[in-house]
Amino acid sequence: MFDLVGRSVLVTGGSKGIGRGIASVFARAGANVAIAARSAGSLDEAVAEVDDLGDGTVIGVRVDVSDRGSCDEMAAAAVEAFGGLDVLCANAGIFPDAPLATMTPAQLDEIMGINVHGTFFAVQACLDALTASGTGRIVLTSSITGPITGYPGWSHYGATKAAQLGFMRTAAIELAPHGITVNAILPGNILTEGLLDNGEDYLASMARSIPAGALGTPEDIGHLAAFLATREAAYITGQAIAVDGGQVLPESLDAIIT
Ligand code: NAP
Repeated sequence: MFDLVGRSVLVTGGSKGIGRGIASVFARAGANVAIAARSAGSLDEAVAEVDDLGDGTVIGVRVDVSDRGSCDEMAAAAVEAFGGLDVLCANAGIFPDAPLATMTPAQLDEIMGINVHGTFFAVQACLDALTASGTGRIVLTSSITGPITGYPGWSHYGATKAAQLGFMRTAAIELAPHGITVNAILPGNILTEGLLDNGEDYLASMARSIPAGALGTPEDIGHLAAFLATREAAYITGQAIAVDGGQVLPESLDAIIT
């Protein structure tokens, strides 16, 4: 029923973390996958790893999503490799922390450039190909931070993640006549390489705040992305869906049953 064999998918920020999990799920489901990121080293590593997971074609594309021209080249490379494009997972993003009182204009510009402009540019670059698909799908990686929650040091980050949802709601209307859906996944705390560096105590305290009792995996995000990318998900558009083990639900730590 949910067949992704032969669907062609582009995952920005697919070389690490959540994007790599998304790319892995699509590859296992038989899709062709283009993994896009800036750094060649981690990109090559991801392509080699993901390529082993399925029968589809996997390619790597260097891109800086904050640059519109670079996004155009990325989309063209995917279309050339696969003969078209059905799905864009606009996942690339950064999350440096910066307290509001000392945040510089350059810090604000950088995060807006990658997380917000990067979302616009990646989508714009893929529009012709997604329209030609007839069943085009756009899946944004937003966050619970911004749309639902806050965290000290992340006022700029939260603003970018909320901005993606504002973008999504109008894009979904504009693109509906072309058969393209636009949805957003709001991950909670997902266990990525970056988080592992914070140590066991930090991870244990994060897990305690989640009703499901554990952090999520990149593949947890990939499974929803894969469903939203199917032809069968055609009637779901403009939706923001949290994948967070219930993290945003408790009123306090006492509300969590251990
Ligand atoms: P990550 O492990 O740091 O991976 C980020 C990916 O994005 C890498 O592939 C990185 O590769 C790429 N990237 C960064 N800047 C880029 C640019 N300008 N152009 C192209 N690619 C770029 O991060 P992550 O934790 O997986 O986060 C991925 C997405 O999930 C982000 O949008 C983030 O906001 C969201 N998210 C994460 C969590 C979490 O718990 N991890 C929770 C909620 C939301 P290069 O650096 O080589 O370009």
